[in-house]
Amino acid sequence: MHSILWFRQDLRVNDNPALNAAIENSNQVVAVYILDEQSKNHRQLGGASKVWLHYTLADLQKSLKEKYQINLVLKIGKSVEVIGKLFAETRAEKLYFNRCYEPYFAANDAIINKKFNTETFNASLLVEPNEVKNGSGEYFKVYTAFYKKCLSSQKLRSPLKAPNQQDKGSKLGVSSLKLEELKLLPTKPDWAAKFKKYWVISENAAHENLEKFFHNGMKNYSDNRNFADNENGTSKLSPYLHFGQISPHQILSATQFFSQVKPDLEKGGEKFINEIYWREFSYNLLGNFNDLPKKNFRPEFNNFPWDNNSELLHKWKWGKTGFPIVDAGMRELYETGYMHNRVRMIVGSFLTKNLLTHWKNGEEWFWDNLFDADLANNSASWQWVAGSGADAAPYFRIFNPVIQGKKFDPSGRYTKKWCPELKDLPIEYLHNPWESPELVIRAAGVELGKNYPKPIVTHEKGREIALKAYALMRKN
Ligand SMILES: Cc1cc2nc3c(=O)[nH]c(=O)nc-3n(C[C@H](O)[C@H](O)[C@H](O)COP(=O)(O)OP(=O)(O)OC[C@H]3O[C@@H](n4cnc5c(N)ncnc54)[C@H](O)[C@@H]3O)c2cc1C
Repeated sequence: MHSILWFRQDLRVNDNPALNAAIENSNQVVAVYILDEQSKNHRQLGGASKVWLHYTLADLQKSLKEKYQINLVLKIGKSVEVIGKLFAETRAEKLYFNRCYEPYFAANDAIINKKFNTETFNASLLVEPNEVKNGSGEYFKVYTAFYKKCLSSQKLRSPLKAPNQQDKGSKLGVSSLKLEELKLLPTKPDWAAKFKKYWVISENAAHENLEKFFHNGMKNYSDNRNFADNENGTSKLSPYLHFGQISPHQILSATQFFSQVKPDLEKGGEKFINEIYWREFSYNLLGNFNDLPKKNFRPEFNNFPWDNNSELLHKWKWGKTGFPIVDAGMRELYETGYMHNRVRMIVGSFLTKNLLTHWKNGEEWFWDNLFDADLANNSASWQWVAGSGADAAPYFRIFNPVIQGKKFDPSGRYTKKWCPELKDLPIEYLHNPWESPELVIRAAGVELGKNYPKPIVTHEKGREIALKAYALMRKN
């Protein structure tokens, strides 16, 4: 008997419920990845996501071949059509897949479930949207209440081991595109090549990162996670989680295990699990408010008088605002496909509150440049930063980028790494070079307006304008 195993954001062989079911219940498995950017409302992958996907698929192809002698079939097209053809070609009896929660995937899956004999699973969330509700039967809009409810009511499964069975590949020789034919890598090869300096993209690497984090980062995670200059402060698992090279069940189970074995990791472990649940909260929001990536969660923000100055937006994107911590973050993003969480909050606040630019512009830039670009997390976080989201930072809380820089990059290591032109500035003036005495700045080789920009706005004036805009919105 043939079955079809459809991969999407579950690109791993371990703890993959659909894979286990397909392998255990059929003699021959056709595994497929479909690059579907044609189905209704599908959002095109961003440039960085495509690069990550390319290497992830290469790794999965290798694992499936080695472990089960399965060739991963690669296709481009509308999923429903490709799957229909595969059913016809292989006379498969069943389609196995893990559920996705982006509204366009969910809508498409409903069609597929109606049309074909399917069995679906949850592989990527600890809590599926709608699984936990508050006392009034509604979905949670406040994180702490959501988290408490999850902890008190959830029974989590243990991670699954990949089945130990050989020779499960289909003998029919189903045709496949070559990986290169998916055209996931950019035509300008240097842009993608540089990422290899920073990331190893594979299922194994995800677990190695987690282990490294247990040894180097977890103990002091609660304190260190906010410090941009601490390279071991966080796990950097977000892209692996997004593409499903590691599952939240695997992370949770390993964290609990390590916390038991080494009690000094318990506090950090608890905080780490708490952060993992922020991802769950984002999916809870997206699953229940499908317009989260497009519309303000709090409708009063529809009246917000955004300024949307394209020149300022351009300077923000390319790290030329003249505010060192903001520029460092934006440059880290473009160079590595990643940005530290605290710095994401700072650059987000700067864009929406200092530059009065709609959060959607930031969301789109992040979508294109982040390796962990994730519809739920990205839109929930941008709305959180802008103040328009659920349980969001209030709009009137406007980060001062100088104070934030001094507080969360106290050594200056982070800022100097991404803005090397400032590397000789003493720490007192690193985050506010325009306040530096002439002699000091000259000695550091910095010429504002020449080799480093002058600030594109004044924080205090910007803050005043933002607060006026906010008051105006509340009046309307
Ligand atoms: C404006 C903005 C946009 C963001 N866009 C994304 C995005 O597209 N994709 C994405 O995965 N995260 C996004 N985040 C959340 C967060 O910044 C990243 O998840 C985190 O920086 C990833 O680094 P890490 O894996 O080292 O995190 P760790 O601190 O090691 O946390 C472990 C995991 O918990 C989850 N997590 C941690 N913090 C958050 C958070 N604040 N919200 C939701 N989940 C969290 C992530 O899955 C993360 O991998 C965004 C945050 C902001 C402020």
